[in-house]
Amino acid sequence: MSKRAVILIVDDKVSNIEILSAVLEEDHEICFATSGEEAMTVAQTAMPDLILLDVLMPDVDGYEVCRRLKADPLLADIPVIFTTALGDQEAEVRGLGLGAIDYVTKPISPVIVQARVRNHIEMKQMRDQLAELTVTDALTGLGNRRRLERTLSQEVARLARTAADLSVIILDIDFFKRFNDSYGHSAGDRCIAMVGATLNRAVRRAADLAVRYGGEEFACVLPEAGHEEAMAVAHNIRDRVQALGIPHSQSDAAPYVTVSVGVATAICTPGADLSSWIRAADAQLYLAKAAGRNNVVGRVFEDRELKELQAA
Ligand code: GH3
Ligand code: MG
Ligand code: MG
Repeated sequence: MSKRAVILIVDDKVSNIEILSAVLEEDHEICFATSGEEAMTVAQTAMPDLILLDVLMPDVDGYEVCRRLKADPLLADIPVIFTTALGDQEAEVRGLGLGAIDYVTKPISPVIVQARVRNHIEMKQMRDQLAELTVTDALTGLGNRRRLERTLSQEVARLARTAADLSVIILDIDFFKRFNDSYGHSAGDRCIAMVGATLNRAVRRAADLAVRYGGEEFACVLPEAGHEEAMAVAHNIRDRVQALGIPHSQSDAAPYVTVSVGVATAICTPGADLSSWIRAADAQLYLAKAAGRNNVVGRVFEDRELKELQAA
């Protein structure tokens, strides 16, 4: 286990929290809540790795907390272990049916609680790693198209609230089919990896995202970046790739590997669709290709134009 996991203990009896906390605090970070309502608030702010949840609580009971957790997309993956009174089989069955992963009985056995918690946290961390792999591109280590789509839909909704700018950059390696044909597919893969690493260095702000969008095509999402800023990033990417100096004797654009870059900037409005930015940037990329490659073409799109692209 790399970093200490955070465990949320929920129980209306403070003495129960103290007992569990004493058993777990050596290996884990502990936070707690003494009611169902409070449990939801603490879960949202602390984002624990595991929740130990008392079934019997006044007002909002453990079942209801579990139901609410599983209904919230951000909290649904947090494993829940119910703490039930010894021999209450009905409570255990009902809890497991609601999506709890396990249960422990009170009075608790310290070694059993420690072992179960450790197992479930290890499994949670493995699930998180697998989930991370499904949005990562193996060749470049950048995010993949799925990560972009996930990020974009969240970003558009967030930025629409303040009518902020969003810029998207799409770039594509020039004459790459010829590169493969003359240097071989493995050299092609290495070239893609180098362009990916270069992109990662050029896209620097914490909120920015660079992904491998397809074969030899990459995309960057720049939230709250105006057009000038996005164009500067795009030119920087183009310059850096050229400066790698990867030989490409068959390119009509230059004697080394180059990229063409399309940029689209627009204000986020409610109902705007992430795919419109991609289409807009892709159209600019097409113009950059048509203009001779190894260059950057971009512009600001009006809301009306984006909505048309959305419908197209
Ligand atoms: P353009 O300048 O118009 O972009 O021409 P292009 O040859 O780069 O474009 P085209 O779309 O015709 O060819 C892209 C090539 O990229 C074809 C495909 O074999 C290659 N490619 C796609 N994915 C990979 C990959 O993962 N590794 C390697 N080595 N080649 C790839
Ligand atoms: Mg290409
Ligand atoms: Mg292509």
